[in-house]
Amino acid sequence: MTQLQNVSTTDLYYICQIVDTVTRNPSSYIRNIEDIFGDMASISLTHSFPKWTPFHIFIESVISSVIYEEAEKSKTIGTFWVDYLLDANDIKVSSASNDPHGGSLVYGYEYLEQLSQDNLINDVCENVTKQVFHVLFSNRATLAAFWDVVSWYVSDTARLFRPEAFTRSGHLKRSRIPMWAQNSIYHRDKGRCVLCKTDLTKLVTQENSLHFDHIIPLAKGGGNCVTNLQLTCSSCNTRKGGRASTTSKDYEAWYKYD
Ligand SMILES: [Zn+2]
Repeated sequence: MTQLQNVSTTDLYYICQIVDTVTRNPSSYIRNIEDIFGDMASISLTHSFPKWTPFHIFIESVISSVIYEEAEKSKTIGTFWVDYLLDANDIKVSSASNDPHGGSLVYGYEYLEQLSQDNLINDVCENVTKQVFHVLFSNRATLAAFWDVVSWYVSDTARLFRPEAFTRSGHLKRSRIPMWAQNSIYHRDKGRCVLCKTDLTKLVTQENSLHFDHIIPLAKGGGNCVTNLQLTCSSCNTRKGGRASTTSKDYEAWYKYD
């Protein structure tokens, strides 16, 4: 929670909105998966349960783009959006970075170049990414949309580059889900099957009562990633099989209104 308090909610939700929009309407922004994930795209998207997930990398790339776009609009130091983000994240800019041209006017890109040489752009993008992730991780529909965008790349390109990670039938091998991932999904989905809402909290000691279900199935290019999991009961899990990529948009209210 301390991280959330580092950025004003106005800006945090502004960035969440951009990331969510890009995720759901990727064609206007994403021309090439490698533009976002770089040469490591195949590894990033098929790595088993990284804590810095592909969705983090995606968020970070969007934030970086927005910082550069905003910099084009403002021509003088002190009016950059990035300055506001640096300040909100308690990242101190050295006087050299702050005034690279001895007080003369500098254009946005020159200033950002100076900041990136000092790794300050990386620092601010990393901090804000964690905050955006904190908000959007709870939105399974956004996560489903994200995996939908990258799934073709996993099935087509990554399979050629990392054949050892795939089964003979062409989908990613199933990985054991680490306890930190199980815990975070259990708490996010509040111990209920996301599809039929069965309360699973009383069933945790019974074998096979909890299922960590891939939102986009491995057979359809989904990854072994905490961002691609949801909690289901055994009957919904069996019914779903490897066919559909269903999640739900329902969330348990914090309290009852009646
Ligand atoms: Zn169910």
